[in-house]
Amino acid sequence: LEQQNHFRNEHGIKAVGRHIPAALKDFAELSDRYNVQSAMMDTMVKCGYNDPTPVQRQALPCMLEDRQILACAPTGSGKTAAFLLPILHTLGAPQGGPRALILCPTRELAAQIHREALRLSASTQLRCSVLRSIKMSKIKEREATFRKSDIVISTPNRLCYLLNQDAVNITLEKIRWLIIDEADKLFEGSADQESDFRQQLDQIMGACGHKQRRVAMFSATHTPAVAKWCRHNMRGLINITVGQRNA
Ligand code: ADP
Ligand code: MG
Repeated sequence: LEQQNHFRNEHGIKAVGRHIPAALKDFAELSDRYNVQSAMMDTMVKCGYNDPTPVQRQALPCMLEDRQILACAPTGSGKTAAFLLPILHTLGAPQGGPRALILCPTRELAAQIHREALRLSASTQLRCSVLRSIKMSKIKEREATFRKSDIVISTPNRLCYLLNQDAVNITLEKIRWLIIDEADKLFEGSADQESDFRQQLDQIMGACGHKQRRVAMFSATHTPAVAKWCRHNMRGLINITVGQRNA
């Protein structure tokens, strides 16, 4: 334990919670500890990922052990791969019907996450899609894409708009991982329970009915509204903070 704390300190990682999995010494540990396939390890090397970033060192083992996390780490510190790798590993083979849902504040970010997901999923058969603009003429197309994706990336607006169409038959019941990226931005100005995002999040959480649904939040800054929501809604929460807490 003492050694773990020392190791975390060396990497500027703070982790608070119960039974926190040991931080990763290197990517090779992913295959030793979690049986991550060598093809996935090769992909990471091809992407130029030689060493895990601090947030990856702590978030990867947590998510691979099915733990719910709130991870705060600066912009550019590799948060995307920190959630994509565990999702890609734990979903395994494609099944049809999304089992991971990634929410983020803007279309541009959704496209960025999608690009990273396409790179990292190269060795898998998993299908990853972004929910694109919903015009009435496209709605059946969007529904079909959604239904055959394993991983869906969307803004909360678009997802809720699609969910609320009577003519659209989609379900979030198979969702195992709900990722909320840039949580600080999504929660911004939503301190009161009536905000659009709060309502959307309630609807989405309510629709993610799987017994083993897990939530993981990622954020560049520590935000009290986010921390509070996590405390209230995420059992066994682990708080991971890297670098400065610029609240
Ligand atoms: P954040 O979401 O924390 O702002 P990103 O996930 O967008 O950061 O990552 C920033 C950049 O770092 C991306 O180009 C990504 O491909 C790269 N990256 C992620 N993890 C690693 C790693 N372990 N080693 C090298 N580069 C990495
Ligand atoms: Mg990011």
